[in-house]
Amino acid sequence: MACDLRSLAAMSGRVYLIGAGPGDPELMTLRAARALGEADVVLVDELVDARCLLHAKFTATILKVGKRGGCKSTPQAFIERLMVRYASRGAVVARLKGGDPFVFGRGGEELFYLREKGIQVEVVPGITAGLGVAAALGIPLTHRGVTQGVTFIAGHSSRSTNWAALNDSGATLVIYMGLARLREITAAMLAGGFSSATPACVVQDAARATQRAVLAPLGSLAQCVDDAGLAPPALIVVGEVVNIAALHAQTTEDRHVRRHH
Ligand code: SAH
Repeated sequence: MACDLRSLAAMSGRVYLIGAGPGDPELMTLRAARALGEADVVLVDELVDARCLLHAKFTATILKVGKRGGCKSTPQAFIERLMVRYASRGAVVARLKGGDPFVFGRGGEELFYLREKGIQVEVVPGITAGLGVAAALGIPLTHRGVTQGVTFIAGHSSRSTNWAALNDSGATLVIYMGLARLREITAAMLAGGFSSATPACVVQDAARATQRAVLAPLGSLAQCVDDAGLAPPALIVVGEVVNIAALHAQTTEDRHVRRHH
């Protein structure tokens, strides 16, 4: 009997890997809010706005497992084991991540680990920061006659990035986790054939009240961003679409955008 109860518990236990969107809690999906409301345990990442947790049950256990590049963090393996432990005891676990769980979010690793352990998992997509930035600054990531594609890449490990190929592709580039290496990245892009006049911007805290952005040509972007003192989390967007956005901006002041020419 005890054994049956245990297997029953294991059956009802499950994990939701949820994308909370880029910041503003209104940018969470309805499904994310519903799944969060079912959870007994919520494991929350650093980048998630606290107001997203208003959708959680009053009785839910909330655990902050944030990590930021270079800072003290909860080890990934520990987080994964924790999810398995709770779910196999019958708890509904919500793993709440910034943006989308499958875009630089280690969602894939978690999904495969949980599946390997026989845990039922559902993935709830979220608006990734790149899309949040685009909407917040009015930058169409693709635009007919200007660019036919967009590439999301990680900047923290960009030493092996083929910048020449990316330049040839003509796609808009959205670079995550690149602020700390902005000088190195822009130098490598110029060496890879990007023109120093390519329109670019860095956006800090997209889709949050603290949002700030700097628009500048690629050649002077790093200096302008240094001068403005932007801090993570921030995204770098490079491509002609940045100029279109600037041309059509309503006002620069209300968006905290600084423009350099
Ligand atoms: N899974 C997340 C990305 C996690 S990687 C997503 O889909 O958005 C963390 C990086 O995302 C940060 O270093 C930063 O480059 C970017 N980022 C996340 N939220 C952001 C925000 N509100 N504004 C600007 N950049 C953000």
